[in-house]
Amino acid sequence: METVILAVVIAVVAVSAAAGLVVTGRRRKQLPAPKAQPQISKPAAPTTVQPPAEPQVGEDAAVSAPEERRTVEEVVLPAQAEAAPELEVPEPTAGRLIRLRSRLARSQNTLGKGLLSLLSRDRLDEDTWEEIEELLLTADVGVQPTQELVERLRTRVKVLGTRTPDELRGLLREELVALIDPSLDRTLHVARHDEETPARPAVLLVVGVNGVGKTTTSGKLARVLVADGHTVVLGAADTFRAAAADQLQTWGERVGARTVRGPEAGDPASVAFDAVKEGIAEGADTVLVDTAGRLHTKTGLMDELGKVKRVVEKHGPVDEVLLVLDATTGQNGLVQAKVFAEVVDITGIVLTKLDGTAKGGIVVSVQRQLGVPVKLIGLGEGADDLAPFEPGAFVDALLG
Ligand code: GDP
Repeated sequence: METVILAVVIAVVAVSAAAGLVVTGRRRKQLPAPKAQPQISKPAAPTTVQPPAEPQVGEDAAVSAPEERRTVEEVVLPAQAEAAPELEVPEPTAGRLIRLRSRLARSQNTLGKGLLSLLSRDRLDEDTWEEIEELLLTADVGVQPTQELVERLRTRVKVLGTRTPDELRGLLREELVALIDPSLDRTLHVARHDEETPARPAVLLVVGVNGVGKTTTSGKLARVLVADGHTVVLGAADTFRAAAADQLQTWGERVGARTVRGPEAGDPASVAFDAVKEGIAEGADTVLVDTAGRLHTKTGLMDELGKVKRVVEKHGPVDEVLLVLDATTGQNGLVQAKVFAEVVDITGIVLTKLDGTAKGGIVVSVQRQLGVPVKLIGLGEGADDLAPFEPGAFVDALLG
């Protein structure tokens, strides 16, 4: 009899607990307060686009969404589970370069492996040193850094006497890392200024010539920031390329970042201003502004970019100006870089398409020419193919 009573009690408790869980699940779903919709009065003013309430789940997310993240409600009510909003979860940024190293190694074999095989020759005569020099120049390391490196290698190899492959590799690694300068500060300044009232998001301007991968990089960078726990607002200030705003908005929607955009061919500075305003209203950590990259004339560029920066700075100083450069363009890219550097104070370089070139030496030459560190590198067209730049991991990938 006692056993029967006990069983009934257990059954009642179990049923109530299950009901409670379902309710909790429902309540939890109602909890997040809807984000404030920005007020838009003038039709010509930039408009703010909110990620749809039910964003489409991308392929990556479908694969990577861990099972344990499902809510009780999703399990109990499968019909609703299908419609549950699920944003993509970008890959963590720590160690990305190591994960993506094969991309680099494939295209950089000529540089790293080439140097190793030349240095391993039985006789290191003048011809061999010339070949080494040529290899470095072909990889866009630049004249001055190439001469410095060859000089140091000559001295160190002499001191070394016998040359085992391991010794040579170690020596070359050391010298290449030194050439890239590991002491440069490659931190991205993306933290909200909580000391101000109201708190103001960090503002990043992404600049560069059309076609270098600027919009793609802005989208990937939003994912990098989201992956590192930041909330992001995107500003589609490239109002000259028709598809740019749509492209950026799609990137934003995938990770829940709002995109502020304006009318086609509208004023980029006004979009950038509104994006920061929206970032402040939302309490976002970072506002990422994709700018237009029409390098028609230096004066034109100066007017345009200069104005964007000036107008945005009505809210407060810009934290980062990231120059996006296409690594495959070699010397041409360096010329572009210099023009941009004369127009705005670049704080970091993003080198894209390093997966498609053997000219990895551009990392060295662009840093030397601009005196600004490479902070991120693009290693493919995939959503998470943008990695924080780490000199050691980069050189390891070069040496295979
Ligand atoms: P924008 O005009 O500078 O904004 O250029 P987009 O962002 O539209 O990019 C131009 C093209 O470059 C697109 O096809 C991108 O997928 C491609 N791209 C961007 N970054 C990389 C990269 O790191 N590797 C490769 N292989 N392609 C890239």
